Amino acid sequence: MFVDSHCHLDHERFAADLDAILERATAAGVTRILTIGTGDGPPELDRAIRLAARYPQVSATVGVHPHEASKVTPETYDNLRQLGRHPKVVAFGEIGLDYHYDFSPRETQREVFIRQLGLARELDLPVTIHTREAWDDTTSILRDHWSGPGVMHCFTGDPAQADEALAMGFHLSYGGVVTFKTAENVRESARLTPDDRLLIETDAPYLAPIPHRGKRNEPAMMIRTAEKLAGIRETTPARIGEITSVNFERLCLRPRNATRYTGDSDGD
Ligand SMILES: [Zn+2]
Ligand SMILES: [Zn+2]
Repeated sequence: MFVDSHCHLDHERFAADLDAILERATAAGVTRILTIGTGDGPPELDRAIRLAARYPQVSATVGVHPHEASKVTPETYDNLRQLGRHPKVVAFGEIGLDYHYDFSPRETQREVFIRQLGLARELDLPVTIHTREAWDDTTSILRDHWSGPGVMHCFTGDPAQADEALAMGFHLSYGGVVTFKTAENVRESARLTPDDRLLIETDAPYLAPIPHRGKRNEPAMMIRTAEKLAGIRETTPARIGEITSVNFERLCLRPRNATRYTGDSDGD
């Protein structure tokens, strides 16, 4: 049994055959899926929740991706606060910084990241972090504004960065990149990540593992990543599934202190 702890099932590339994709996932042993709620950014932030509501094995996140930080308005935060209480929401994200594409100004990305860390704390949700070519700013913001649980999603850092994130209490989630030929550094990080901090993901439809590289990724393909991780860590894919499932449950499915969404229509 495996949990895909990060994918984008609401992506347009899945629209035509989502039921078949979920059937293939189940057949492959990927029995729980966390779909990321960032969509195309504000104002529409509930696409993943609506999708998760249709499938018992799918949970959702809410959040604004750094790419869309410049679309945020004051209403966006009220909206996220409300959506974050939905019973299908188990994490906040993906949030963080992306200095590779710079789709939003960096100052705006940092501001929106910090505000959302505050919201995640308020909602008592773990955070899932996206960071690309922005490691130092990401970790310095997390040090100043976050002390709760979280995940470095699609972790592609070297062992020093892995140590840094682990020391801050973060989980490291590995995706298809660990199967890529040139990713020796990432494999070294995956080797040293303790059992109780390890997660696995697809980031589908992106980053398909070898031998599917370049194609549309989907949760069933995560088995290739699990096999690779098992080889790196000298264990079995089944054991990788077991420890990453336990970690996901402990991180995302624990009881929360924040007031949860009750379905009442009073809008509170
Ligand atoms: Zn990401
Ligand atoms: Zn993602």
